[in-house]
Amino acid sequence: MKVSLLTKFHDFGLAEPITRALAQENYVTPTPIQRDAIPLVRAGRDLIGIAQTGTGKTAAFALPILDRLAARPKPSEKKTCRVLVLSPTRELSGQILDSFRTYGRHLRLTSTLAIGGVSMGKQVRALMHGVDVLVATPGRLLDLVRSNALRLGQVEVLVLDEADRMLDMGFIHDIRAIVAKLPVARQTLFFSATMPREVETLAGQMLREPARVAVTPVASTAERIAQRIIHTERAAKPALLVEVLKAEHIDRALVFTRTKHGADKVVRGLGHAGIAAQAIHGNKSQGQRERALAEFRSGRVRTLVATDIAARGIDVDGISHVINYDLPNIPESYVHRIGRTARAGADGIAISFCDAEEAAFLCDIEKLIRTTIPATGRRAQRPAPRAAAQQAAPKAESAPASRGRKRSRQQRRERREEYANVAPAKSGGDIGSLPFMQRRDGRGARRAPSPR
Ligand code: AMP
Repeated sequence: MKVSLLTKFHDFGLAEPITRALAQENYVTPTPIQRDAIPLVRAGRDLIGIAQTGTGKTAAFALPILDRLAARPKPSEKKTCRVLVLSPTRELSGQILDSFRTYGRHLRLTSTLAIGGVSMGKQVRALMHGVDVLVATPGRLLDLVRSNALRLGQVEVLVLDEADRMLDMGFIHDIRAIVAKLPVARQTLFFSATMPREVETLAGQMLREPARVAVTPVASTAERIAQRIIHTERAAKPALLVEVLKAEHIDRALVFTRTKHGADKVVRGLGHAGIAAQAIHGNKSQGQRERALAEFRSGRVRTLVATDIAARGIDVDGISHVINYDLPNIPESYVHRIGRTARAGADGIAISFCDAEEAAFLCDIEKLIRTTIPATGRRAQRPAPRAAAQQAAPKAESAPASRGRKRSRQQRRERREEYANVAPAKSGGDIGSLPFMQRRDGRGARRAPSPR
């Protein structure tokens, strides 16, 4: 992601527990939407933010809101919330709540999620004593209000995230019904990737003299990076990685794998080939992660292998190469990954390995960045997208069966693990593999996104 060099987080004067959490996340420089939005929100203004996922918009609203809650602590009233965040999907809602909890981890605040697709009982209980922050999808929120589990009369701040998508998904009536139950004296923050007329009309009805901030779409971050695809067989990836790391002039390489297990395996393989590498992922302790990052920063270890989630918040200058050992199934993740290079005005190189089952992911990525990435190939042919899409459909059962080749138990286990981490939602980040989501519903990302 491109970041502004003008402001540091401590210039905002946010409450100390918040800046401490940001430092722990290695956030140093605010993104443009954060730089522009945070002072306006802190000043109490209503806001229209035109920004996509991947621009740092969640922190742009979460940080000033947390700061407000920290400055004016209040015991929660039963069945109420002080901050209401509406988002179109379960996945995005979970990701937003996760961000509030991460940035607010040193504050004594309560927060919960109200999303469809899971039983209401737990959500009713979580709201019983009231919460500071509630993140919800519109349908479930209305169900909770209608069953008297929640009252909206105490809401001080309303955030509407991905408004254009909400309208596309037919939530307009639910949103109007919710807004009608909110106090008129509130702060409203309205985020949308695009502003077609009906979104503009909705904003006009909900906001009072809003300030406006807009940032360039996520796809443009890819422009300064030399990108390359290498088509390969899956089994050839380990040797290909060694070859690439030896052939390229590398200052620092960040290698992405889809799974934690995959990251460890890559590190072991590189070790056997005499290339020092470290992995960071969710199974590593904070100490191990910090050590790995410190060694990478200092240049002692030049190859860091990471999963998407672990790579959040990695802010290391001088990454010359990003290597996608596995292609991400969410195209926005590709842009986030390659944005780890080409920081601070430098150019970077992104090399992605693409096996037959990842061809559909590649199509999605190229559609998002509106570019065909130059490709070289070890496989004779790129499979037709439709056939590839069928092979790569994110279902645990879909891939292995019909290939005319028996897989070993170990291979089957790996594939299960990999596909369990594939989230079906097209945007909304990598929430499917967030520990938080897996803790709550026990099934992670396997189910189709349900807005209610
Ligand atoms: P969002 O657009 O809110 O989904 O954020 C995209 C990604 O950027 C998330 O993984 C955030 O954790 C990360 N992020 C947001 N703001 C910053 C920042 N100022 N510095 C580094 N990473 C950030």
